[in-house]
Amino acid sequence: MHVRAGELTFTGPHTFFKAPYLPLEATWEADVALLGLPYDFAVGFRPGARFAPSAIREASARYAFHPDEGFFDPGRGVRLRGARVVDAGDVDPAQLEYQESFRRITEAARALRSRVRLPVFVGGDHSVTLPVLRAYTDEPFFIVQLDAHLDFSDQRNGTRYSNSSPFRRAVEELPGLQGITCIGLRGLRMSPEAYRAAKDRGHILVSAQAVRRDVEAVKRLLPQGERVYVSFDVDVLDPALLPGTSSPEVEGLSYSEALALLEGVVDRNELIGVDLVELAPNLDPTGLSSLVAARLLADLLALWWDRASR
Ligand code: MN
Ligand code: MN
Repeated sequence: MHVRAGELTFTGPHTFFKAPYLPLEATWEADVALLGLPYDFAVGFRPGARFAPSAIREASARYAFHPDEGFFDPGRGVRLRGARVVDAGDVDPAQLEYQESFRRITEAARALRSRVRLPVFVGGDHSVTLPVLRAYTDEPFFIVQLDAHLDFSDQRNGTRYSNSSPFRRAVEELPGLQGITCIGLRGLRMSPEAYRAAKDRGHILVSAQAVRRDVEAVKRLLPQGERVYVSFDVDVLDPALLPGTSSPEVEGLSYSEALALLEGVVDRNELIGVDLVELAPNLDPTGLSSLVAARLLADLLALWWDRASR
């Protein structure tokens, strides 16, 4: 299976990393599969994350690789050689019927988990993380959330399932969720109640300023020897690097800082799932944001595969 190696970046049809498209209705297994969750009806500010799976597919053609060859990276050597990657398509949202949309997402996440070692969910706004996590009920696990925002509000404007609340609902619903480490926090709009509630529950909350001061010290705050789900909100990155997001905040992480943290996670733990959310490609006409997001997924897959294929 796989890839039209040597084809130009802009030739289609577009799939994630030009991997074969294999819908969940078919029977297959792989090391990694990416599933699009084009749902952004829970955004409180600027919409557009519904366009992210499609934009990342197109951008990721830049990082297409043949499984027999992998990438050659002069800094890190050969990467991703031998990894079987699949594009599992998108979940169709039911628009305003959020419970039905969430049900479809959970069902697809369960199906994906049953056939790949590493499922990768491409949102969508951050509300999609809750229905994805509902597929993780089998064993205890931890979450590492990279985000400018806490997303731990009890409610916003009377809404309890917006992209401000997925982790509040997750700790209420999921007995297997052991703890959350949230890194990259900053900005002027955080709810003091949410911050206190997360602290009281023992969550580890780390500011973007703390990452800039000493990223190695922050890596020591990550879980160790655990099953870890990574939730990557692209607004953790600096908006000069990634402006295409609903709620950008200045003083964000550099690409290298974010990658160092992800490396810390996969070095120390078993990675059981990843999501990348809140990319709004319509808010960045240069296309840079989608390229950066695609590159981040390629780098994260390579970091994981370096360890998983040993
Ligand atoms: Mn978020
Ligand atoms: Mn955010």
